[in-house]
Amino acid sequence: MQAQNRMYIGGEWRPALGQDTIPVINPADEQVIGHVPAGTAADVDAAVAAARAAFPAWAATPPAERAARLTALRDGLAARKGDIAATVTAELGAPPALAEAVHAGLPIVIAGTYAELAATHPFEEKLGTSTVYAEPVGVVGAITPWNYPLHQIVAKVAPALAAGCTVVLKPAEDTPLTAQLFAEVVHEAGLPAGVFNLVTGLGPVAGQALAGHDGVDLVSFTGSTAVGRQIGAVAGAAVKRVALELGGKSANVILPGADLAKAVNVGVANVMSNSGQTCSAWTRMLVHRDSYDEAVSLAAAAVAKYVPGERVGPLVNAKQQARVRGYIEKGVEEGARIVAGGPEAPLDKGYYVSPTVFADVTPDMTIAQEEIFGPVVSILRYEDEDDALRIANGTVYGLAGAVWAADPETATAFARRMDTGQVDINGGRFNPLAPFGGYKQSGVGRELGPHGLAEYLQTKSLQF
Ligand code: NAD
Repeated sequence: MQAQNRMYIGGEWRPALGQDTIPVINPADEQVIGHVPAGTAADVDAAVAAARAAFPAWAATPPAERAARLTALRDGLAARKGDIAATVTAELGAPPALAEAVHAGLPIVIAGTYAELAATHPFEEKLGTSTVYAEPVGVVGAITPWNYPLHQIVAKVAPALAAGCTVVLKPAEDTPLTAQLFAEVVHEAGLPAGVFNLVTGLGPVAGQALAGHDGVDLVSFTGSTAVGRQIGAVAGAAVKRVALELGGKSANVILPGADLAKAVNVGVANVMSNSGQTCSAWTRMLVHRDSYDEAVSLAAAAVAKYVPGERVGPLVNAKQQARVRGYIEKGVEEGARIVAGGPEAPLDKGYYVSPTVFADVTPDMTIAQEEIFGPVVSILRYEDEDDALRIANGTVYGLAGAVWAADPETATAFARRMDTGQVDINGGRFNPLAPFGGYKQSGVGRELGPHGLAEYLQTKSLQF
């Protein structure tokens, strides 16, 4: 993927209105692989104007026709799967197998679910003597992070388009090339001009301009809690719809009677995937005291298979690498015991962090409370189920989690008491229709499936 020095606005690639550019760096070898424009407030104005102009006609387009465009979008993503995977590997450092299966594969599935939902969703229903219409909210400002560059985009753009909204996307500055490739696919899929617009740029400049723009009806943001809080405040002041997908500190609760080896191995794999840069990662492993030592040995053995530069990629940039290494140092300072990995960088080049397992972690430690966003597992000991629940629920977050038990009924009963938006029972099974989103400070709103579509709709009732 060749970096474009333009913005995709109103159905065409236009020169940026400012001169500044942002370098794109391959985090595996620290080489600059391209430059993209650093959009300004003026570029955001132009993109919002194009989205506004396109909104009435797209909103009035029959759902079956919107579904046909989304099917073309899905097919376009499938046709470019190899390019997408290579681009994500180049700018995020994802190992090729992960890039192909998840970074390129998942968005195809999600786009497909919205092609289908656009065709089948009940946009009109009878309720007593009323007819209730689900109408698109309007122009969406989508602000996405770098950790799953294409998935985060498709998880917002596909439901927004299915609903009849138009979109301005400001992707993460670390991974803009995937966003440019997505814009190419949108164009090839024949979406009307202005329905989707892309402005690359820095968060505090282009992102902030988009989040606070009067012409934007809904802001959908995924990223850090700190920025989410600011965006929520700005949206609140303007009485504007907002969806926030923020951090997590999810618990992997292994109850007595569970298959310990499976629970530990799957749990470690869950954190190591994408170098730990997953908001829903099960970063806290909770183990009963009778099985604790065995679980620690199993986790240390499991993590040895994750070799940096092979199965585990780098972190996205030098700042994230320093941040994660800082958390590992903090864990040691606060008395946790390293059983694998540690703060030293494993390779001379690239923003790698050693896959790390901490034992003897207590619930009050920083590494048990804050989102690390790296390949770091903390193993905590619990006394009984109530203690496990207190620990599981004892952070400000509530995004995801896992429960393992001898039978699904026991695991389900425990999961129902967890303050979290999504729980995998005995390993779970990925379901692209399942709502994804947070309790507590993990966010506001849901993505994926019909719940994700509902975020982009508002209801009108007519009484007869
Ligand atoms: P971030 O929140 O700064 O960036 C996310 C997106 O928001 C990017 O597109 C960025 O340009 C934009 N942004 C930044 N400041 C903005 C502002 N003032 N107004 C509008 N948009 C703005 O995240 P980060 O600094 O890249 O990562 C820091 C931490 O955030 C990570 O370590 C991790 O804990 C968390 N994070 C969470 C997720 C997630 O999926 N929930 C994704 C990425 C990062």
